[in-house]
Amino acid sequence: MSDQAFYSGLQAKLETLRNDGLFKPERVIASRQGAEVVAQDGRTLINMCANNYLGLSGDEQTSTAAAAALEKYGYGLSSVRFICGTQTVHKELEQKLSEFLGTEDTILYAAAFDANGGVFEPLFDENDAIISDALNHASIIDGVRLCKAARYRYANNDMADLEKQLIAATEAGKRHKIIVTDGVFSMDGTIAQLDKIVELAEKYGALTMIDESHASGFMGKTGRGTHEHCGVMGRIDIITGTLGKALGGAMGGFTSGRKEVIETLRQKSRPYLFSNTLAPMIAGASLSVLDRISKSTELRDRLHENTAYFRKEIERIGFTIKPGTHPVVPVMLFDAPIAQKFAARMFELGVLLSGFFYPVVPMGQARVRVQLSAAHTREQLDTVLKAFEQAGKELGILKNQ
Ligand SMILES: *Cc1c(COP(=O)(O)O)cnc(C)c1O
Repeated sequence: MSDQAFYSGLQAKLETLRNDGLFKPERVIASRQGAEVVAQDGRTLINMCANNYLGLSGDEQTSTAAAAALEKYGYGLSSVRFICGTQTVHKELEQKLSEFLGTEDTILYAAAFDANGGVFEPLFDENDAIISDALNHASIIDGVRLCKAARYRYANNDMADLEKQLIAATEAGKRHKIIVTDGVFSMDGTIAQLDKIVELAEKYGALTMIDESHASGFMGKTGRGTHEHCGVMGRIDIITGTLGKALGGAMGGFTSGRKEVIETLRQKSRPYLFSNTLAPMIAGASLSVLDRISKSTELRDRLHENTAYFRKEIERIGFTIKPGTHPVVPVMLFDAPIAQKFAARMFELGVLLSGFFYPVVPMGQARVRVQLSAAHTREQLDTVLKAFEQAGKELGILKNQ
């Protein structure tokens, strides 16, 4: 406690964040997660900003499955996986995830952040090349930093640039090349062009990896993910993803792929070797979620109906959205102060939303991001749309106004 300059330096930096409007306050919820949540002040809000795509966070069946696993396997293991932290429920979940994703084997992590953080370094070295989309998730960027492979970056979703980088890596004589992309980019709801990526990978002898955090459980006809959506199931080398979004919403992550890849990760991946095992109640609840969505596509179908309805109606009211089909719907307001005012007004009107502006999105691209859920009722969506219309009129930002 003798270096006062350290603490006053931090205070000054925090003050700058506040003054620049970049400080991120926490919004405290006093209820379960769901289509509606209760704020700390007791107000009920319709929640339009959770990654709760299938409505399984806070869901009764999920909680019951977690409670059953808690009862059977206990609270935790006080161990990493390879010492004494592996229970039957972990092995069952790894097998079930492999079946669901159409892969050979799967390894669990405490978070997708860890899965991405621990996937590159054990598999690639300075002789290899990682070719990464410019908008990939922070955890991929950090994972790549921990690895000695050469880094190549291509412009978001730009297949011509990807090919350029593949050529550059080939000309540099790199031994193995891997193309890495988010399956879905969460700021725009953009879906990666996996059909084209797989074609390019085959043309240049490269491997492929996708992060399915915003896709597992609901993209594709039966919810397997972006690889199903794009018709390339079985042709992706490595899939990472989270159990903390659509697949139950608690926490946990995974890496899935060929046996020898997963086995290597079990031997060498640092977040797996040096961090505690996933709590058994989360593994148990995740198993129940996978069972449920493998038996019926009802939740996935309802999510996509809600998404199509919201996308159509919000445009009819006079808002501009980024076109697409994903349940992430960026409602474009362009101007940062307007986006802030808009989100604040929506909060007063009983809708929980988040605004995004520079530097999270490019300058002049400020927006509020709506995320649909299977748990939203048509009535709730209509209430939200009315609030959008009212706030839009008040701020004078509707087309044809
Ligand atoms: C949310 C997210 C992660 C992190 O997931 P956690 O399991 O919460 O660590 C990783 N990658 C992408 C693309 C994400 O959207």
